[in-house]
Amino acid sequence: MNRIFPLEQGPPASGPLLDTYGRIGNDLRVSVTDRCNFRCTYCMPAEGLNWLPKDQILTFEEITRVVGVFVGLGVRSIKLTGGEPTVRHDFPKLVGMLREANPDLELSMTTNGILLDRLAGPLAEAGLDRVTVSCDSLMRHRFAEMTRRDALDRVLAGIEAAKLAGLTPIKINCVVIAGTNDDEVVDFAAWARETGFEVRFIEYMPLDAEHHWERAKVMPSAQILDAIDAVHPLVPEGDGAEPATLYRFADGEPGAIGVIPSVTEPFCDTCNRLRLTAEGQLRACLFSLDEADLREPLRSGATDDEIEAVIRKAVWGKWEGHKINHPDFQRPSRSMSMIGG
Ligand code: SAM
Repeated sequence: MNRIFPLEQGPPASGPLLDTYGRIGNDLRVSVTDRCNFRCTYCMPAEGLNWLPKDQILTFEEITRVVGVFVGLGVRSIKLTGGEPTVRHDFPKLVGMLREANPDLELSMTTNGILLDRLAGPLAEAGLDRVTVSCDSLMRHRFAEMTRRDALDRVLAGIEAAKLAGLTPIKINCVVIAGTNDDEVVDFAAWARETGFEVRFIEYMPLDAEHHWERAKVMPSAQILDAIDAVHPLVPEGDGAEPATLYRFADGEPGAIGVIPSVTEPFCDTCNRLRLTAEGQLRACLFSLDEADLREPLRSGATDDEIEAVIRKAVWGKWEGHKINHPDFQRPSRSMSMIGG
């Protein structure tokens, strides 16, 4: 990918959030906490991490204000994440504040689902549009091994509660690890057909806190699609102009299959994502080694225009792409739960 604009030119003063490669950032993931009640082996150590002190985490008012600035800059979709967003005290209140300030915003959440049995209703009432629930195995013992929590039944009950509350279409995120749960991809496809859910298979990325990632554990998305297609033929969704990442079932059954091939087929040239960590650091790439601090200006009386300038500069400097497949790849110091996936 070639740079379209020289970096020295600096970001535009108006219009959408543009970077020097011509990409527009209009999808923001907002982490509301670094804490999590699961300990997924590919993400966090069994004993957890050193949680951030409360005063370092953005308040609901700060999150609402900064989201308002992003919306003014053309961001149309906000995904609340973490850590585990539902463990943040009074979380539906934040959703209500965001909805009230931004009636037309697409507002979703990524969750492990364990608290959805009681929170799905309040979250839907507060104005959440839909949920993505992480689920890496449909077998109780394996789910417990991968998440270090024997909670498959509660997660499935949470998904059901989300459906009843209208937090649809429901998406399921499944991290596939070769030699661990790759034998379940066809079962997940059968589940998608039965339930109408969109099951999205995520390639294992080098973002685990314990640095256990290795390339041999990455199950390539192409192989996942082949395995499913052999049993339940798939048809790509979309116009065929780009490699498809979403597939429907050829026989017209409900549900869909998605893949997120970040390692084997990086999609950096069309990446429109931005991430805000729980303590207010803006990351233009999941694998960024640098961050722009929005908390300091938020807390030191900066105007919205001043915060906008910090955001524009950070997005302008977005990398061409992550370097997982380059010999000089450097892992970010933060792991997935501290960034906000
Ligand atoms: N706790 C919430 C959840 O479970 O969805 C939100 C945060 S979690 C960090 C977001 C997503 O990142 C989950 O779907 C999780 O499976 C995924 N994830 C975490 N570590 C990962 C890794 N090393 N590679 C790929 N995906 C990962």
